[in-house]
Amino acid sequence: MAKIQSIRGMPDVLPDASAMRLWVEDRLKAVLARYGYAHVRMPLVEATALFARGVGDGTDIVEKEMYTFEDRSGESLTLRPEGTAGCVRLCEEHGLLYNQTQRLWYQGPMFRYERPQKGRYRQFEQLGVECFGFPGPAIDAELLGLCADFWRELGVQEALTLELNTLGSPESRAAYRDALLAYLRPLADQLDEDSQRRLERNPLRILDSKVPETQALLADAPDLAACLDEASRAHFDALRRYLDALAIPYVVNPRIVRGLDYYTHTVFEWTTTALGAQGTVCGGGRYDGLVERLGGRPTPGIGFAMGLERLTLLVEAHGAAPAEAAPLDVYVLALDETHSAEALALGQRLRQALPALTVQVHCSGGKAKARFKKADASGARYALILGETEVAEGTVAVKPLREGDAAQTTWTLPALIDHWREGLPSPSGTDVATRR
Ligand code: ATP
Ligand code: MG
Repeated sequence: MAKIQSIRGMPDVLPDASAMRLWVEDRLKAVLARYGYAHVRMPLVEATALFARGVGDGTDIVEKEMYTFEDRSGESLTLRPEGTAGCVRLCEEHGLLYNQTQRLWYQGPMFRYERPQKGRYRQFEQLGVECFGFPGPAIDAELLGLCADFWRELGVQEALTLELNTLGSPESRAAYRDALLAYLRPLADQLDEDSQRRLERNPLRILDSKVPETQALLADAPDLAACLDEASRAHFDALRRYLDALAIPYVVNPRIVRGLDYYTHTVFEWTTTALGAQGTVCGGGRYDGLVERLGGRPTPGIGFAMGLERLTLLVEAHGAAPAEAAPLDVYVLALDETHSAEALALGQRLRQALPALTVQVHCSGGKAKARFKKADASGARYALILGETEVAEGTVAVKPLREGDAAQTTWTLPALIDHWREGLPSPSGTDVATRR
């Protein structure tokens, strides 16, 4: 029978790659903890209308990337393509935005029907951060500082550039939209197909078109900065001062508009040249109108999301290499099946008494010789052996597996636990600290 394969664009993560990802995620979580951010979990599935309204018609995501289906009762549901809309829904549904500020983060799979390639998948993971209730630019700077700390923690700060822009207030943005439309309408038939479609619905998106001919047409497009009202300019200027105070370098890129049409004021991307076409590792911005648009009271919001696959690829290419995975410490085996229960119990007692130790118990049957072979192949430093005599006497035989002909010794379990309490002895006989 033909084997069933994984779905295109939805990759498995094998043990070595997953160990690397866990290491990256642990570092990110450590930074988030230092900043005092709270964690939330949203469901993977939401009402389709949440994304249609929250992400916006006229965006790539809503137009062509969503996994939308009807459930058995005929309700239209969508696998989440991003986390912001769901996070706003969660906050509104549970009253988290009433007279309070929030600093939240989440992590998990997102789903987009895109053309799979390196760094671009149909199921991928994001870590996202959203803050609510902060109108001023200090939180914008805090979030960019948080990102900068992530990159430092992972050793990839040199590989990433902060590209910054402002879209201004909704009024500034609307004024700019008009100016851009007036400029582009006469050029409409020279635009690429996607940009033509966007012209009346979402013309700002044309600015980040990847089509070179379209980019060339934009060379003389009106400048967004000229349309900024005074308050918008003040917000952006203050943010730039704060970034200087935090010693975070950036470049202003007026072409950064972000895909989602709810952004206002600050928008940013952290980009790298190390990953080819998929160079945006993290993107975000301020979305002061979104909460209201989803039915809540006007509440300022700002956030970002990063792709964990792209970030991990970057760490592999440029980052701090995680310490090598610690080998097993102990492999417990009974000489035959009659003493499997005692072997399992011994493993359990060791793990409970010495939580820093990694202990595996032989579970695959076989004759004594096969069992020793497995112990050896496990990479463990010591085999703990239970035979007739040991079980009868309440002892355990300890055989060093990595020290040439070092002799096997016999211990009672309490004595062995005491002996190993400060860590396993190093092969040369001097004590080393346990690694975990
Ligand atoms: P892109 O321009 O690369 O399509 P985007 O603007 O659609 O990115 P966002 O919606 O801002 O991306 O998502 C934030 C981050 O999530 C991206 O910067 C990227 O790191 C990651 N990401 C987005 N889409 C994918 C995908 N299909 N596969 C892997 N990572 C992705
Ligand atoms: Mg995209």
